[in-house]
Amino acid sequence: MTQTHAYGAASASQPLAPLNIERRQPGPHDVKIDILYCGVCHSDLHTVRNEWHNTLYPSVPGHEIVGTVVAVGDRVTEFKPGDTVGVGCMVDSCQHCASCAEGEEQYCENGFTGTYNGPMFGGENTWGGYSENIVVNEKFVLRVGHDAGQLAAVAPLLCAGITTYSPLRHWQAGPGKKVGIVGLGGLGHMGVKLAHAMGAHVVLFTTSPGKQADAKRLGADEVVISKDAAQMAQHAGSFDFILNTVAAPHDLDAFITLLKRDATMCLVGAPASPHPSPNVFNLILGRRRLTGSAIGGIRETQEMLDFCAEHGIVSDIEMIAMKDINEAYERMLKGDVKYRFVIDMATLKQEAKAA
Ligand code: NAP
Ligand code: ZN
Repeated sequence: MTQTHAYGAASASQPLAPLNIERRQPGPHDVKIDILYCGVCHSDLHTVRNEWHNTLYPSVPGHEIVGTVVAVGDRVTEFKPGDTVGVGCMVDSCQHCASCAEGEEQYCENGFTGTYNGPMFGGENTWGGYSENIVVNEKFVLRVGHDAGQLAAVAPLLCAGITTYSPLRHWQAGPGKKVGIVGLGGLGHMGVKLAHAMGAHVVLFTTSPGKQADAKRLGADEVVISKDAAQMAQHAGSFDFILNTVAAPHDLDAFITLLKRDATMCLVGAPASPHPSPNVFNLILGRRRLTGSAIGGIRETQEMLDFCAEHGIVSDIEMIAMKDINEAYERMLKGDVKYRFVIDMATLKQEAKAA
């Protein structure tokens, strides 16, 4: 075991603070990664505050990790020291159920192991990327093909990128399709960029009128203020697909009624408390579908990273020092981030050295 500096929460009511965690020595199939950057996902906040009622403490979040390989186990074939790599939301899965066999480890029937707060069905806690380094089985490590200068902005692709890419691909966003993205936060802004790059006609729904110009710049063809009923009514029955990233309970019918017959709205936002139940008639009359989606498999995450490298896509980020994480959470709750905070992990290393 090696002592590793990190930031985490001791309980739901305490802010994040420095703490030490232990990382295992790399086993035969493990890759040890020196973390350069870690994105700040709203799921980090839900978890440290125990909003999903399953948090193990201390809780060290962070699942949008980019770093450099510093050591590999003797059976590792895909990576070597010096490689630039990423780690997303998963660090393990059973590897033998039907979902794992199909490369859909996020739906592992025995429960995948999360990068933090890992054990779904028992086992030890895991600690995420708000730390100096991490040790991960090579099957859950991704190759990063972007330029060295873009690495901070690549980090959010590991969760916000794949969580929007996977459903956009599954429901075939592309030329001739009218696709809605609800919410312009970390996930939403990646959804706009990716749906645009896939060739869809993209409509961004926001509660924040101040985000309209940014949405257009990011690739939205149209922007709708979702609180304006008249603007919403102009789009009734017209969407092929809507991806809803909102992190708070809200009226789903306002969006379901915008779907065409047989079209789908997919929820990826995971609020702390339930949405009001939708009106069944809006689903029945039109055979519309309401569904959900979890991140994406490892193979698809690599496909997404390669797609983004090829299309020059990264996240729009605000870089922060590790010590500013609690303030960043408060701003994220207000929707005040353009459009993803990323922690420069050099600041944690400097802080630890000075202490
Ligand atoms: P975020 O950066 O905070 O963005 C959420 C956006 O939702 C906000 O920017 C805001 O956009 C909108 N919003 C927030 N509160 C709202 C309210 N009360 N009413 C209407 N709109 C509101 O969060 P994120 O990191 O993108 O994460 C979004 C959600 O996805 C979280 O619940 C997170 O846990 C979840 N998530 C799920 C998965 C998965 O696998 N399914 C993966 C990662 C994250 P506007 O200002 O434009 O309205
Ligand atoms: Zn996330």
